[in-house]
Amino acid sequence: MTTDVLVIGSGFAGLVAAVEAAAGGASVLVLEKMRAAGGNSIISDGGFAALGADDSPELFYNDLLRAGQGLNKPELARLLAEKAQESLEWSRDVLGVEYLDRLEIFGGHSVARCYTAKGRSGVSLLRPLLAKLSQLGVSILYQTKVEQLCTDPQGRVTGVVVRQGYDHRNAAMGSEQVIEARSVVLATGGFGADVKFRQLHDGRLTAAVDTTNKPFTTAEVLVEALRLGADSLHLSHVQLGPWASPDEKGYGEAPGFADYTVFPLGIVVDPVTAQRFCDEMGDRRTVADALLAVGHPCVGLADSQAVAQSGWSLERGLKKGVIKEFRSLEDLASAYAMDPARLLETTIRSGRFKAPPYYGVRLWPKVHYTMGGLAINADAQVLNTKGIPIAGLYAAGELVGGVHGACRLGSCSITECFVFGRIAGRNAANQESRV
Ligand SMILES: Cc1cc2nc3c(=O)[nH]c(=O)nc-3n(C[C@H](O)[C@H](O)[C@H](O)COP(=O)(O)OP(=O)(O)OC[C@H]3O[C@@H](n4cnc5c(N)ncnc54)[C@H](O)[C@@H]3O)c2cc1C
Repeated sequence: MTTDVLVIGSGFAGLVAAVEAAAGGASVLVLEKMRAAGGNSIISDGGFAALGADDSPELFYNDLLRAGQGLNKPELARLLAEKAQESLEWSRDVLGVEYLDRLEIFGGHSVARCYTAKGRSGVSLLRPLLAKLSQLGVSILYQTKVEQLCTDPQGRVTGVVVRQGYDHRNAAMGSEQVIEARSVVLATGGFGADVKFRQLHDGRLTAAVDTTNKPFTTAEVLVEALRLGADSLHLSHVQLGPWASPDEKGYGEAPGFADYTVFPLGIVVDPVTAQRFCDEMGDRRTVADALLAVGHPCVGLADSQAVAQSGWSLERGLKKGVIKEFRSLEDLASAYAMDPARLLETTIRSGRFKAPPYYGVRLWPKVHYTMGGLAINADAQVLNTKGIPIAGLYAAGELVGGVHGACRLGSCSITECFVFGRIAGRNAANQESRV
């Protein structure tokens, strides 16, 4: 089998790259190890950071660097900030993605700049991408797991070895096949669910730490690229989502309440002291580190005015029992074993509690995103350890390191998938003239 451009992974980064490569006139094939498209992209909230009101690429860039503690590769962070708006518009105009008529603000952003795809779901971005690809005549081969990257004697990537008919329940199933390509775009996502690999880089992240990621979010393609001589960076910077709850598995319902309502409009308290202990609108690393420093699950609270103002439904979380409703703050204090007088004092001081009922959720961080990954340049070419592009090899999305430095801001990963997916797809299609 031979194609111009081979895209590995069918999340947003891969599908966006495939659209751009096919639109550039190349023959394109997408490979996906699972039975369906979407990776973690499909379970995302569909939040896309671009420019808000009174915003600018410069302000966005400065926010990225502040959260990233300056570890970001400046040229990559700058590209994200500068191309975010254009990519959002491309998703609307070329793909037909529809966004809600509102902007969210998440911790660490200076302004509200998160556009949410309708339904607050990655599906609203995935469907138009898949429709565009079928319009462009691009196929996706499912249950096709990339196991090896192939090179010629000069080190140029020439294709991949796959296991076709792969089944994650039985790794030995399927048969090996070689697929040749003029260029390969790696878009296999992060390694949040790869306990062995993440623990190698951050010893605290044992199997006991839950993750919001799909269980097959693993590092095999990243490791294969390293074997080939690709460079990596920031692999020990693994993001913990501070809005997750120990009262449910995976992502669940807590983040939708905590991140969209509690953090901007409510408070988080330590149940032992009934006091706040951090700025809830700090970036994810700051808030997650503060929770870890407390050492036990804490409680996120909001009143009915905050819930009405944010406008997001709590129905599913209440039904599941992860979010709880209370007629009074005394009831809430008793449910979470807090001193009621102290809690009352804390809520009065916050100025954020005016109208019952009140809502509570227990919070404890979970592995959510991996900032580290492959080294690329501004053309999305994968770099070797000497900083030289590996001919024929591109990468985009969560697999790449350096865009976010020490901490990714909320809704910036989808932006990253679109900005760098587009660059990778266009350049991969132009391979002959580029390398
Ligand atoms: C629950 C949740 C909510 C989120 N919400 C948001 C949000 O609202 N906004 C935001 O910006 N970010 C959000 N994120 C983060 C964001 O969704 C991800 O970082 C992003 O979607 C990653 O996209 P990707 O294309 O790089 O990888 P993925 O979407 O994970 O896709 C990678 C694909 O590659 C495939 N693959 C892996 N290895 C192989 C192999 N060996 N061979 C073949 N295929 C392979 C995988 O099966 C997968 O389908 C969220 C993340 C989660 C988990």
